Amino acid sequence: MERRALLKDIFLLGVSASLPLKRLLAQQNSIKQRPFHQFRLGELELTVITDGSIRMTPVQPNFAAGIPSATVDSLLVNNFRSTSEIDLGINILAIRKGKQIILIDTGTGTGFDMDFGSASGWLPKSLADAGITPEQVTDIIITHAHPDHIGGLFNRDGSLVFPKAQVYLSAIEYAFWMSDKPDFSKSKINSELLKQVLVSTHKILKILKPSVRLFDDQAELFGCIRLQRAAGHTPGHTLVHVYSGGEELVHIADLLHSDVLQFPHSEWGFSGDTDTALAAATRTKELAALAAGKTKVFAYHLPWPGIGHVRSKGEAYEWVMETYPIPG
Ligand SMILES: [Zn+2]
Repeated sequence: MERRALLKDIFLLGVSASLPLKRLLAQQNSIKQRPFHQFRLGELELTVITDGSIRMTPVQPNFAAGIPSATVDSLLVNNFRSTSEIDLGINILAIRKGKQIILIDTGTGTGFDMDFGSASGWLPKSLADAGITPEQVTDIIITHAHPDHIGGLFNRDGSLVFPKAQVYLSAIEYAFWMSDKPDFSKSKINSELLKQVLVSTHKILKILKPSVRLFDDQAELFGCIRLQRAAGHTPGHTLVHVYSGGEELVHIADLLHSDVLQFPHSEWGFSGDTDTALAAATRTKELAALAAGKTKVFAYHLPWPGIGHVRSKGEAYEWVMETYPIPG
């Protein structure tokens, strides 16, 4: 079962079948207790929880399509990273404001409609490790409607994982996925993968339709959140500004998927982007703003726990991870 799920996972990501499967299998369920990371932002208590990870291989053309492989490889090697894969973390942010618990995205889930295998879908267990029950979650903000962000809303049988939570999604994002023929003409996504994503996302949004609350660009929620459209990865892809007591953190969602490749080269494409050129332009513009503002950043797919700052480096940028003296 686990092997089947994994093979499917590899297929879904459009990755090479020659991947050493033994190494992948050896990695499964190696974490006995999932870590979480807590910190305060003004009056808010923030907890980072892991949903697991997604391995993308080969690096090209998933990343930097059309760029000479020697250029990409040397960047990876100089950063002591593998040249054969990019590991994407799945970092979920939980915000506690009084009795309210707000989740930003929900990970891949149990494979309600797309099976990502056992390397992800850990959110409910990870929340339990952090002392949060599904019933305590009051609100869920979805940054965009990809399966690794909305898959965790449902159990395999279609029932809700978070029965009391109100779900929020960009009106533009909802309209895009629910249209008769969403436009992927500017994307480099694998066509087989796209077919599955379209079926899965449409099905999930249809179930959500009666209850979901749609938001517009710059909408404010709960007196501590501002939602900013950052189109390109998807049309309604949204950055979540979290603020309290004069402090701010920006959840950059899927603005970028690799620290060592996309900060120095925000113009390099990513196969998961719906509009490759627009995503690159948005990435470059937002990185400039984050660097200028010295803003604290939270990133969904960057290495655990995804917290840091963007710094200018020459004409480009670099990721400065926050570090901690002890776990927790
Ligand atoms: Zn994602």
